[in-house]
Amino acid sequence: MGDYFQTIVDLDAGEDEAPRLAQRVVDWLVAEGIVLAEREDCVLGQPLGHPPGPHWERAAAEDDADWEPTDGLAVHTGRTVFDGGQDAPEAVTCPRCATTTPLDADPHDLVPDDADGSDQEHPGTAGDGVWPRFVAAITDWRRTGAAAVDCPACAQPVPLPEWVWADDCFAVGHLGFEFWNWPEFTPRFRTRIAELLDGHRTAYVWGKL
Ligand SMILES: [Zn+2]
Repeated sequence: MGDYFQTIVDLDAGEDEAPRLAQRVVDWLVAEGIVLAEREDCVLGQPLGHPPGPHWERAAAEDDADWEPTDGLAVHTGRTVFDGGQDAPEAVTCPRCATTTPLDADPHDLVPDDADGSDQEHPGTAGDGVWPRFVAAITDWRRTGAAAVDCPACAQPVPLPEWVWADDCFAVGHLGFEFWNWPEFTPRFRTRIAELLDGHRTAYVWGKL
């Protein structure tokens, strides 16, 4: 066994607006009966969270309706790195040129995104591995709230929050809703949350401890 979590991260919320947006989403979740208003000891890594409410299934896929959530919702506000909890991310995609870069592989082995059908290569654009650059950027972002990584393929500096991570395993932001040991959410639920967040871009980070 283990503990699973799924987190909806607001990628666009600034530090100042995160508490207000957090409250709006929690108010809606409570009004729907998805979580309870009062907080208790029901999440990992935080002292208090919102336990599941009587209508938790409004968030979950029908197939999972016999898997009842056992733990609660932790709301993170402030500068936070959200990751899958176990391994380093395997790959990351540049939002400018759509090239996917494997993070543990030789930097010459860039994999073009097949969505655009191109098979261009970008040899010799990186010398010393890509993952260490991201590690440095994550450190900077934690400290200052801003960091960019030059894309190994198109050489543009891309702000850390704009990179697209493989397998929903990583995001940075100022607001995240982390549900512990809940069934998988429906796309409709995730869309509703994004609407409540003023239509901000969101990431959906899965993890296991
Ligand atoms: Zn690029």
